[in-house]
Amino acid sequence: MKLVLRGHHLLCLKGFQGYGYSEDFVKNMTEVNAKRKSENTTISLTDSPDDICKACPNLNNDLCENKKQNKRIVEMDREVLKKIDSTKEFNAPELFEKIDTIFNTKESVSKICFNCSWHDKCLFYQNL
Ligand code: SF4
Repeated sequence: MKLVLRGHHLLCLKGFQGYGYSEDFVKNMTEVNAKRKSENTTISLTDSPDDICKACPNLNNDLCENKKQNKRIVEMDREVLKKIDSTKEFNAPELFEKIDTIFNTKESVSKICFNCSWHDKCLFYQNL
């Protein structure tokens, strides 16, 4: 299996507890979250709409909501992609192990998660 994921969604997946923007979104995110835990999954990284965005009601002509919001989201992706070589394809569990070693304090995610509305539902953020 192959997944394409935006940089910041690596962190969202780690914190996912079944909440989301719509029923379809949650169903898709649940499936992606299961796939990313499989040894047989490879992941390519992007700063564009990905396998999570494709079921999101906020996706609007390939933008996250609008130009202003999309710019913020792309900046969040790039903060993650600064630390990980996005030209490579990764084994999924290995990539998430790498994420654990890079993003392991609130400070390490401050430029990515600071404005997120899911803090109180995000296990990843709460456990930092
Ligand atoms: S469209 Fe925006 S809100 Fe929806 S999953 Fe993608 S980045 Fe997140």
